[in-house]
Amino acid sequence: MYDIIIVGAGPAGATLARLIGKDYKVLVLEKRDFKERHEYNREKCCGGLIAPDAQLMLARFGLGMPKSILVNPQLFAVRVIDFDNFNESYYQRNYINIDREAFDRWLVSLIPLEVNILYNCLYKSYEESEDGVTVKFIQNGREYREKTRILVGADGALSRVRRQCFGKLPLPNLYISIQEWFKTNGNLNYYGAIFDREITDFYSWIIPKEGHLIIGSALRIDNNVHKKFELLKKKIKDKGFAFEEKVRTEGAHILRPTSIYPVYTGNNRVALIGEAGGFISPSSAEGLSYAMRSGLELSKAIKEDFNRYDILYKTNTKSLLWNIRIKNMKLPAMYNKHLRKFIMKTRVLSFKVEDF
Ligand SMILES: Cc1cc2nc3c(=O)[nH]c(=O)nc-3n(C[C@H](O)[C@H](O)[C@H](O)COP(=O)(O)OP(=O)(O)OC[C@H]3O[C@@H](n4cnc5c(N)ncnc54)[C@H](O)[C@@H]3O)c2cc1C
Repeated sequence: MYDIIIVGAGPAGATLARLIGKDYKVLVLEKRDFKERHEYNREKCCGGLIAPDAQLMLARFGLGMPKSILVNPQLFAVRVIDFDNFNESYYQRNYINIDREAFDRWLVSLIPLEVNILYNCLYKSYEESEDGVTVKFIQNGREYREKTRILVGADGALSRVRRQCFGKLPLPNLYISIQEWFKTNGNLNYYGAIFDREITDFYSWIIPKEGHLIIGSALRIDNNVHKKFELLKKKIKDKGFAFEEKVRTEGAHILRPTSIYPVYTGNNRVALIGEAGGFISPSSAEGLSYAMRSGLELSKAIKEDFNRYDILYKTNTKSLLWNIRIKNMKLPAMYNKHLRKFIMKTRVLSFKVEDF
């Protein structure tokens, strides 16, 4: 009998396992293979930018990141390209540009040895009984069952745990993100954020990463997803960006909690952390800080009172919900075409890139 089974060793699951692993009997189920890095391993599709809020979480954990996770170039600016208003501006931002897979592996490497981690392992389903939860999973084609007192869904935007346990509850808006990687020897030294209602009511991005240019977009799920992505690339090319040799296409779902009602922490048997619970910024899609923060709050609740962890976890995440509320209040300034035009025209906080 485990105390806690965590499904998913992304930033949320790895954080929780690190923080409770020495005190409880913990099993982590992860469908990726973190032992070996090879071309066909399913890596998390991500922009790989650590924003200030996520940097603060690492600081709160007393963690410093190894140099091997960083990639070229490090970025100090965002270039906002507003296709709706034919306008653009540069703003100062301090992101850490990382290799996301290396980041996830590093977080997993910090999990105490006492924790049992199973890789290449697919969570299938669960069954509740009076004394706990029986979890079914598949590894190397064989089905296994393990029993636990608490099941934690840390399995990301399309969480199977959430769908099975709380399928009747509303889900935050679901988008599909597409990213294409192109080889480049250009010297783009900023992060590009693109607003264009013809493409998406969320946003698109350009990120330079270790000799590549990543073009990505979070798109409403409909039949025109690929057409819209092609249109985005055409518009970016027309704007003067050079990208030719495509090396990779990837995709992932992403949630956008435009209200706090679909953000859910779970019940007294099944808890949700990270994007599985709906914890992610609805304005920027920054999710790493929310994943680590919700993992931290659940660990505190479990340690404070195992039997009342669900009530404590819900209380602990109130400030995270406020954070999501406040981000939602900011949405009109970013996503209303007229308001954005006005704000960008004022040039407040923007700067000019010097022409030498
Ligand atoms: C295209 C894109 C770009 C993004 N860019 C950024 C960015 O630059 N900065 C930022 O802060 N955030 C970014 N985000 C958001 C961020 O990636 C997520 O919010 C964050 O990864 C959530 O962490 P998590 O641990 O909750 O989930 P995940 O990172 O999704 O981890 C879930 C884990 O569960 C595993 N899993 C899933 N299902 C199962 C199963 N059935 N059995 C076993 N294991 C399972 C997965 O393999 C994975 O390891 C981006 C998201 C997308 C889609």
